[in-house]
Amino acid sequence: MLYNEEMTYQEIYQQGMEQLMQADIQEAGLDARLLLEWCCGTDRNTLLVHGERSVSPEEYERYRVCIVERKKHVPLQYITGEQDFMGLTFAVNRNVLVPRQDTEILVEEAMRYLHDGMRILDMCTGSGCILISLLHYSNDCTGVGVDLSEEALQVAKENAERILNQKKKTACEALCVPDESEQNVFWVCSNLFERLDSDEKFDIIVSNPPYIRTGVIDTLMPEVKEHEPRLALDGQEDGLFFYREIIARATTYLNREGMLLVEIGYDQGEEVRALMENAGYTEVDVVKDFAGLDRVVHGVYSANRR
Ligand code: GLN
Repeated sequence: MLYNEEMTYQEIYQQGMEQLMQADIQEAGLDARLLLEWCCGTDRNTLLVHGERSVSPEEYERYRVCIVERKKHVPLQYITGEQDFMGLTFAVNRNVLVPRQDTEILVEEAMRYLHDGMRILDMCTGSGCILISLLHYSNDCTGVGVDLSEEALQVAKENAERILNQKKKTACEALCVPDESEQNVFWVCSNLFERLDSDEKFDIIVSNPPYIRTGVIDTLMPEVKEHEPRLALDGQEDGLFFYREIIARATTYLNREGMLLVEIGYDQGEEVRALMENAGYTEVDVVKDFAGLDRVVHGVYSANRR
């Protein structure tokens, strides 16, 4: 792509789209437009209505670089550095999985059982999108997010600071009171439960752990297999490694009648249900996503009933 002074939004969009199509990018038109909006700090309407507006050299250069990256199948969200999830904008980078719309089912399901003041644990928190959404849409809850990756936790912390502090600030301003509330979210770098004190108890444990069978990872789209962190994808040989660990160990950390909710792959519902039932969870249920596929399994742990 070469710059000349008369280039318009419409022209560079067209060029960007063609380049992405040649590189076999699935939604070339959509991605070319989203990147252009991002590079020019504008929205869809402006691009549509003012398609004939000339592009500055800076805008053009930014767009060119973005298109080069996207042609290499770098996920759009790693280029723009953000992804919306549950109506909130999360920062992302290559150290975290891009939040998926499917995962909103897990959050929505957890919200049905979440009450004010509960304690929530998010195991394998990544960008923190699950925990931060739950805290954002509830009151006086406390959350702990655990991840093995220090780099991922850094992203989660940034997201919490921006999203949750904003919520506190707005609430305090509305009530005209000073913001003196304590921090309600904590991040722990740990291999699963290893570094969590067994005295810590939670009312809800959520997790979207890595659940792809190792052998399947290489069949996924390049965006995922070449650019997203393998650590966040690989559920080991049968894809169930993390469910076995989390389901077994969560019993120590759940309050009586506490609930465990996990996201699963579309073909893991019955296996994960069996793992939960065998570990003594009751009211185990498999929940479908909007595509009609199994997506979440949850169960209650009532220690004394075993
Ligand atoms: N909990 C994070 C998410 O849902 C990360 C999941 C993962 O790393 N497997 O996006």
